[in-house]
Amino acid sequence: MDEFVEGHWRIIIDTTLESFEKHGFEAFFFRTRQEAVKFIMDKASDCSTVGIGGTHTARALGIVPMLEEAGKVVYDHWKLNIGTEEELECRRNQMRSDLFITSANALTMTGEIVNREGVGNRINAMTFGPKKVVVVAGRNKVVPDLDSAIARIEEKAAPIRAMSLNRKTPCVKAGYCMDCDAPDRICRITSIIHRKPSFTQISVVILDEELGY
Ligand code: SF4
Repeated sequence: MDEFVEGHWRIIIDTTLESFEKHGFEAFFFRTRQEAVKFIMDKASDCSTVGIGGTHTARALGIVPMLEEAGKVVYDHWKLNIGTEEELECRRNQMRSDLFITSANALTMTGEIVNREGVGNRINAMTFGPKKVVVVAGRNKVVPDLDSAIARIEEKAAPIRAMSLNRKTPCVKAGYCMDCDAPDRICRITSIIHRKPSFTQISVVILDEELGY
């Protein structure tokens, strides 16, 4: 049985990697976190500054302390109080960093990166500013197409994120998006990266495990 489940995943991953390559991205699949970490550290080797997007996935890899130990200046706004000038400056510095590491809300089998967020620093930094961007995601973030990507955000990613931020939004109770007008609404910008942005190298890294939400 496992053999068929794995065979099914293999088809999904292979199709996804091929679509991203066709769209100008670099695309990789790693069986272990260690391989992904090595890949990211190699990418960072010639970088002085590294920005970390608001992502559980990148932090779960333990990459932040490793980068700091390697002498990089790491812009990680999760260490700062939200909305303070220091935190906002950290987000701005992410957009000027040599390398930006983030995850995504969804990766499509048709080769697009889809995100929805409230502030916009992640979406900005992914498209222009940093010379290199690594988007790392568990295989659970892979969906068939753009419609499925939006559904994934509204049924899972955004309600869980709102819950984690203790927001007073209807999705926290309902478990799915109600397209709210709450002041606490976290969904303010949706980004679809259809092709590699003209002046930014983006590496898409898919991990062979469920990671993040
Ligand atoms: S729009 Fe509102 S209800 Fe929908 S996921 Fe975002 S915060 Fe929740």
